[in-house]
Amino acid sequence: MNEVIENCDVCIVGASISGNYLAYLLSSSNLKIIIIEEHSKIGIPFQCAGIISKKLTKLIDLPNYIILNRVKIAKLISPSNNILKLSGNEEPYIVDRIALDQLFYKKTENNPNITYFLGEKFKSFQYLKYKKIKNKKIEIRTSKRKIIASLLIGCDGPLSLVGKCLGRYNNIIYATQIRIKGSFNENEALMYFDEKWNDLFGWIVPEGKQIFRIGLASTEEPMKKFNKFLKRINIDSSNKIDHQGGIIPIGIMNKISYDNILLVGDSACQVKATTGGGVIMLLIAAKYASNCIINCFKHNKFSKKIILKYYHKPCYNIIGKELKIHYIIRLFLKHLKNQDLDELFTIINNSKIKDLISFYGDMDFPKKILFKLLKNPYIIKFLLKILIKNPKLFSKSIISLK
Ligand SMILES: Cc1cc2nc3c(=O)[nH]c(=O)nc-3n(C[C@H](O)[C@H](O)[C@H](O)COP(=O)(O)OP(=O)(O)OC[C@H]3O[C@@H](n4cnc5c(N)ncnc54)[C@H](O)[C@@H]3O)c2cc1C
Repeated sequence: MNEVIENCDVCIVGASISGNYLAYLLSSSNLKIIIIEEHSKIGIPFQCAGIISKKLTKLIDLPNYIILNRVKIAKLISPSNNILKLSGNEEPYIVDRIALDQLFYKKTENNPNITYFLGEKFKSFQYLKYKKIKNKKIEIRTSKRKIIASLLIGCDGPLSLVGKCLGRYNNIIYATQIRIKGSFNENEALMYFDEKWNDLFGWIVPEGKQIFRIGLASTEEPMKKFNKFLKRINIDSSNKIDHQGGIIPIGIMNKISYDNILLVGDSACQVKATTGGGVIMLLIAAKYASNCIINCFKHNKFSKKIILKYYHKPCYNIIGKELKIHYIIRLFLKHLKNQDLDELFTIINNSKIKDLISFYGDMDFPKKILFKLLKNPYIIKFLLKILIKNPKLFSKSIISLK
């Protein structure tokens, strides 16, 4: 049987939010784009708590039907139920994540320059070098065909095979979540901190209509820890509506530029290590990726050098540095015992720090608030105490800042 061979300018692997948004950004460029998605339906399986900062509507036109709820208060709960209530300018959206993934697909699926191959898996790639053509091209193998492209974009999530073929791997944590009817406050998102699940936290996110998304993420034994968490909040999961699982990459932004290849979104670990949230960061990254792709074709160059210039550098300056700060905060939180967590909550509650966080806190860009907090004597004393107990934490933080 003859193998099907397709030619295109850009081949995107993964048709979730980053792949579809990137295709949409490129849809007026006249570039021939192929998108490969291993699942046959966009947005399925659903794997998200769907809480996204209000920057979402600054970045994209968000139709009302995608917004299910908004929360006014973030309630952080310590191991011994010390509560920190944060309210301020930030009123995050709770979104219908399946509809968000489908939004840009619906806008591009009928574009004659854009072809989706759904239910098809990316397998591998190799570089091709033609004698008479200056630039290298890429030959991509999928489960059904061969594709020849100038650029390959890995939007294929935390376990990215495109990244793996380049020798890049993400550190990951496993998330588990249920949707259930409940009687929590619909205006509050709850985060439960505990040394038992210190890779992230346990969450209760109000979807609206008295439905709540309750989840937890951890490197080890996520189900066992999730059951402990459900017990703590008195939830009987046998009444659940449905159950989701998922993987979250935790770390700092990966290397994202290679000859003829870009990584975007979870594949590039463009995810906040404090919360596991990736949507805002990947939307910003996709804008730089789209600008970079246009420039590659304008200059007819696809080398790592041009991709570094138009993608990696601006991305690193705007989100990469902030992602490092998220990661350092996560490193600190990971070293706190329950007693330390309780003490930190008490310090924040009994001082003006809470107002400072409410006023300057930003779910996505923590640099500003971190520098303000580092001027506070109670916080400095607390941090010094933790650093003395965990001397390697300082060197780990410095290494991640480099
Ligand atoms: C439980 C959970 C809760 C979360 N909650 C939030 C939240 O509240 N707020 C927030 O901002 N973020 C949240 N996130 C993170 C957010 O979901 C991700 O950052 C976002 O989905 C990343 O989008 P992406 O397009 O880069 O990758 P993904 O959404 O992972 O999509 C990758 C796509 O690539 C496809 N693919 C993978 N490999 C191949 C292959 N070989 N061939 C073809 N196709 C392939 C997959 O099928 C998938 O469609 C959460 C994540 C999880 C798991």
